Parts: sequence; C-alpha cells; structure tokens
Amino acid sequence: MTQTITVIRGDGIGPEIMDAALSVLDAMNTGLTYEDADAGMVALEKHGELLPQTTLDSIRRNRIALKSPLTTPVGEGFSSINVELRKRFDLYANVRPAKSFPNTKSRFPSGVDLITVRENTEGAYIGEGQSLSEDGETAMLTQKITRRGSERIVRYAFDLARRTGRKKVTVVHKANILKSTSGLFLRTARIVAAEYPDIQCNEMIVDNTCMQLVMRPEQFDIIVTTNLFGDIISDLCAGLVGGLGLAPGANIGTEAAIFEAVHGSAPDIAGKGIANPCALLLAVGQMLDHIGQPENATRLRNAIVATLEASDSLTPDLGGTGNTMSFARAIASRL
Ligand code: NAD
Repeated sequence: MTQTITVIRGDGIGPEIMDAALSVLDAMNTGLTYEDADAGMVALEKHGELLPQTTLDSIRRNRIALKSPLTTPVGEGFSSINVELRKRFDLYANVRPAKSFPNTKSRFPSGVDLITVRENTEGAYIGEGQSLSEDGETAMLTQKITRRGSERIVRYAFDLARRTGRKKVTVVHKANILKSTSGLFLRTARIVAAEYPDIQCNEMIVDNTCMQLVMRPEQFDIIVTTNLFGDIISDLCAGLVGGLGLAPGANIGTEAAIFEAVHGSAPDIAGKGIANPCALLLAVGQMLDHIGQPENATRLRNAIVATLEASDSLTPDLGGTGNTMSFARAIASRL
C-alpha cells in the first residue's frame, strides 16, 4: 500500500541530509511517496512567508511529515516555526530517544537506551504571559499546567512503554517546590500510572534526575516530564550519547506527526556535503515505527549501527573522512 508523506527539505544543511535520508528510504521498499513542501527561509524567499498555507495543508492531508531543520530569522513574525507547527497541529508529545552507539565520541559508548517523552504544548516553555515592567526591573511569565495536558502525555509514555516492551517510566517533576504546577502534573501522573500495573513507575525530582543521568544513565528507560524540564533533559541525554548529530525527535499529535533531527540548520557547514545524516535517519526510523512499519525501522537502525561499528564512510563530526552521501550509501548497503 502506498502512503504519501510531506517532506520539508528546510534550510542550511537541510536539503543535503534530506537527500541522503530519502536515498536510504528509497532502498527499503516502504511504499512511501513524497510530497515536497516549503518552510523556513526557502519558503520566505519563494512564497513570502515562513510557513505557507500550502505546507500546512500538505501536513494536514498526509498527517505525517519528515522535516529538516529550519532557520527562523530573528524578528520575523512568530518566534519559532517549530513551535508554531507544534501549536497548529497540537503536537503534544515530543519523543526523543537517546541510545549509545559504537564508535562515537561519547562518555557512554554503551549502556544508554532511554526515551524522553516531553510535554510539548504547555508549561513555562511556551512563554505565555511574558512581561517586563516599565522600569525594566521585573520580568514575569505565566506557567500553566492542565490536568488534561498532563494526563495525555503521561498516558502516551506508558502506552509507549507497553508498545515497545519497556519496563519503567520515571516521572520527572519539581513538585516539592512548584507545588501548584509540578504538583498537578505529579498527582495526575500517579493516577495514570495506577492503570499500568505491568509498568514500573518511579518519581524523581528534576535536579536529582540530571545528576543521576550523568552518573548512572543506565537506570532510565522512559522519562516523562513537562515542557521546559523535557527540553533541558533531552539535550542532556543527547550529550550523553555523542551529541546532536545522533539525536532524532518526533512531535506527535492526534492530527499529525512530524519527525525531525534535533539539531539545527548548521549554517557553518551548509553546502559542503559533510553534514551527518544520522539524526534525520534515526527520525525516519521513528516515523517507520509510527506508521506501522517496525520491521523496516529495525532494519534501518541495524544498518546505522553496523555502519558506525565498521567506522565506514563516517562524516567528519564522527571522526571520519566520508561525507553525507558516502555515509548514506554505506548505510543503504547494509540494510
Ligand atoms: P545547529 O544545531 O545548527 O549547529 C550547532 C553545531 O553543530 C554547529 O557547529 C554545526 O555545524 C553542528 N551540527 C549540527 N548538525 C550537524 C550535523 N547533522 N552534522 C554535523 N554537524 C552538525 O545549531 P545553531 O547553530 O544554534 O542553529 C543554527 C540555525 O538552526 C538557527 O537558525 C536555529 O534557529 C536553527 N535551528 C533549527 C532547529 C529545527 O528546525 N529543528 C533546531 C535548532 C536550531
């Protein structure tokens, strides 16, 4: 059966890593066809806006998008195109796996295999109610947490654990101090957790979580947390396993899901053909799982690991002498 996905090539290194990722995807008999849509600087130049209606329509129609990084110019409309996409499609779950890979410059070349599930639509991160007093001395921000928002993200984390055979969910909070917001999140999480007796649930305060992640990351399986804590923790986790070149992310909602590399458009290396396509390819793996092609997702991940193990044709950020397309070809040859 064929399925069409929206493909956003993005800015900077975006088109280079997307070409590489699609060349690997094409080698896999997934039945996917691609509909190109513009966003970011390239859309601003072509259509006069950063996020054209035709792109939103394409995502709404296909419900699945694979997206390269976008450059959000400072001072042009909304503060971030990515945040705008999350709002438009209510992409409430940000799912970021962090896994040790061989031959990567990392403090944990083995033992890390965790997923951060971050609430994506509320909390301090969305910047609601920001103000600065006239004298510039006092800044304010509203932090809103809802029972509905907490419940659906925690449920997502527990369902993910069940679906993927994971055993433990750690609820990360700061309810000892932020009694209203983090307190509501934690209380709601406890109620949801009780419905999943087969999955171990533990609770951890966010500051301790950061220390534990650095000292004993192997104790974590799935982490679920609110928006700002999740933003920080998921980057910390990417750092544990070799940085942003290997960090994929999925933004999942009820109307659509968008899969992307966590890194940005890397203008410093754009056009040189040396960008690492791995993060976007790992996001392709998440996408294949999501659309019900877990065998292809596993094939792809195994081919990536085998290529890293062989240290074959790797890009310079991984210490190799290869380039974006040689890396992709090496992965495709091992599918
Ligand atoms: P960045 O992630 O683009 O780059 C940080 C460093 O990592 C750079 O040295 C870069 O060369 C390197 N790097 C990143 N991805 C790489 C890859 N695949 N292979 C090899 N090296 C890689 O972060 P930045 O410089 O802070 O941001 C640049 C632009 O990207 C900004 O306009 C920002 O708004 C945008 N951005 C977009 C997204 C997104 O669309 N999801 C995320 C973050 C930043």
